Amino acid sequence: MSAPALDRSEPDPAVAALIAARPHLAMHARDGLVLEDVPLNAIADALGTPCWVYGAGTMRARLAELTAALAGLRAHVHYAVKANDHLAVLRVLAGGGAGADVVSEGELRRALRAGIAPRDIVFSGVGKTVADLRAALSADIGQINVESAAELAMISAVAGTTGASARVALRVNPDVDAGTHAKITTGRADNKFGIPYAEAAGLYAHAATLPGVEPVGIALHIGSQILSFAPYRAAYARAAQLVAALRAAGQRVRRVDCGGGLGIGYRDEPGAAPAAFAGALRGAFAGLDVELMVEPGRWLVGPAGVLLAGVVLTKGDERFTVVDAAMNDLVRPAMYDAWHAIVPLSAAAALRPVAATDVVGPVCESGDTFARGRVLPRLAAGDRVALLDAGAYGAVMSSTYNARPLAPIALVDGARWAVIRPRQPVDELWRAECVPEFLG
Ligand code: PLP
Repeated sequence: MSAPALDRSEPDPAVAALIAARPHLAMHARDGLVLEDVPLNAIADALGTPCWVYGAGTMRARLAELTAALAGLRAHVHYAVKANDHLAVLRVLAGGGAGADVVSEGELRRALRAGIAPRDIVFSGVGKTVADLRAALSADIGQINVESAAELAMISAVAGTTGASARVALRVNPDVDAGTHAKITTGRADNKFGIPYAEAAGLYAHAATLPGVEPVGIALHIGSQILSFAPYRAAYARAAQLVAALRAAGQRVRRVDCGGGLGIGYRDEPGAAPAAFAGALRGAFAGLDVELMVEPGRWLVGPAGVLLAGVVLTKGDERFTVVDAAMNDLVRPAMYDAWHAIVPLSAAAALRPVAATDVVGPVCESGDTFARGRVLPRLAAGDRVALLDAGAYGAVMSSTYNARPLAPIALVDGARWAVIRPRQPVDELWRAECVPEFLG
């Protein structure tokens, strides 16, 4: 099933149904919308809007649920840092036993800074630079996932200059369509990712002969926001076949990195069930005696985050509801046509009669639209709303477009909360810029 798009013909779920489907949220008559045990209005009063709020308890519970489903599989969770790279988020997930999947020196350094052990870090990505590889080798991380013959040669060369040895897994492109949005599908032959399946065995044998490189297994990742398990089963069957073929050819294969991609329910569709994911892993790899790694990002943190916005005004007879958050804060609707639930923060507002409206931000692009023709309780200037399920690929993809400072972030943990990033001061926007002398 593909990701739900911004424009849908089915009726929009009611506010009550959206909240009922999300156990970390509740609507209290007096306090309004509550995340874990903290009223979101209290955070908006303190920090203003727009502002992000993450639920640490929710992230922890989701990691525990996934880990429990994987029991008995010799599988380890490596959280995909790209989904939300805040140090506090990394600390929460590391505290629950997760390692990290990183794709840049910056993410690697964040993971180390958050206290994740180097051996629990895997480095993915299709274009690692020499600087990235040097950083990975000098930290002696657990594994580097290699995406091409050229990269394998680079790793061997960099290892030669440092005297290190790199544990590598070959990321194979299984040529399986994950059935997700075209911009986040990664496992088809025409995507840029991975080594063509037919070339993987030859390259693995070559890797085993290279100095400074120790091939330890294979890796694959077929896409993101995947809600159907058939593509996983197809990809993992191909991976299992490759492991058997490599071993038959005398190679050692200890690990299979099964990637991430588990989808969440943004609208009223159920998210991917950890038990079904574990079933797909078990079905393919149970008899193979391999260590498994999984790299979920969105599934762990997506539902745990909200973006709070204030209504600036309505216009065109309420056809447009203009809020103070924008595409520079949350780009997913503009970039992927993504559907995010929008819920008023006050219980009284949530009970108002509904009407269809376009919820838009103030940025000077028509694409700065969070929802089109969305049936919502009628909103007015001064109301606040929460955009739900914004914990993954949210703040981490923010920009300062239109010279809009980065919004603050609060972390809730049960009944406690703290600011984990203050609002960026406006003059910080140009702090690193300079005007050359020749301009006078
Ligand atoms: N692993 C790799 C190699 C990725 O490229 C990604 C994201 O695209 C992930 C894991 C995490 O994906 P998701 O957040 O959908 O679980």
